[in-house]
Amino acid sequence: MHLCKDCDSGELQCTKCIIGGHSRRPLHRIQRWNGNYFEDTSLANAGLTIDLGHNPVTCVAGHGKIQSHLITVMDINGLHNVRLCWCQCLRFSHLAEELFRRQWIPATLIRPGTAFTFRVMKHFQRLSHIARTTPWDFCNVIQRLTDNIQPDQLPDIYRSFNRVQRLWRISRAYKRAGVTMCHSIGTLPCLGLQCVSCPWPGRNIPDNWKDDPDV
Ligand SMILES: [Zn+2]
Ligand SMILES: [Zn+2]
Ligand SMILES: [Zn+2]
Repeated sequence: MHLCKDCDSGELQCTKCIIGGHSRRPLHRIQRWNGNYFEDTSLANAGLTIDLGHNPVTCVAGHGKIQSHLITVMDINGLHNVRLCWCQCLRFSHLAEELFRRQWIPATLIRPGTAFTFRVMKHFQRLSHIARTTPWDFCNVIQRLTDNIQPDQLPDIYRSFNRVQRLWRISRAYKRAGVTMCHSIGTLPCLGLQCVSCPWPGRNIPDNWKDDPDV
């Protein structure tokens, strides 16, 4: 029997039900009753696979080109093993693109083994701005959320996370500044924010401020 720690229902479920109920929530943490106690396990270990690409029903190759790949995904509740499955018969784009479509950022573009959810990147950016949390401390917290007994046994994600959080930060800055692929080098808008204390005609002082007799 299985118990999901993130569903808040507290009900025990058989393997079939826990897989069926989590096909759209693959980043929940589950435990399995081993006869003596509930031990931590993963949805991938229970048999859950996430289908990428086209709907398996419309496969023109009779599922002849199925690929399977196990990756580590970091979310705000810890690290997760996720088994991905896809068929390359028709319209399957690059694996990294498929992960982006799910709002997961791959750590590398060629056959990624690690990914980070948009959710965890936003979470870290807030913590970094408000609580001054460093990437190193954040990775330690995530590892201890995953396994507080032997965090050293988990995959080392610090270097990947640190690289991706820098990319995330700069891409958010580009987005806020309206930078698109159309801008070539030299025509990039400024990423810095304008000073709110300085006088800007039409914004915090009138357009005709020169006509003001008190100026
Ligand atoms: Zn759940
Ligand atoms: Zn059941
Ligand atoms: Zn197919």
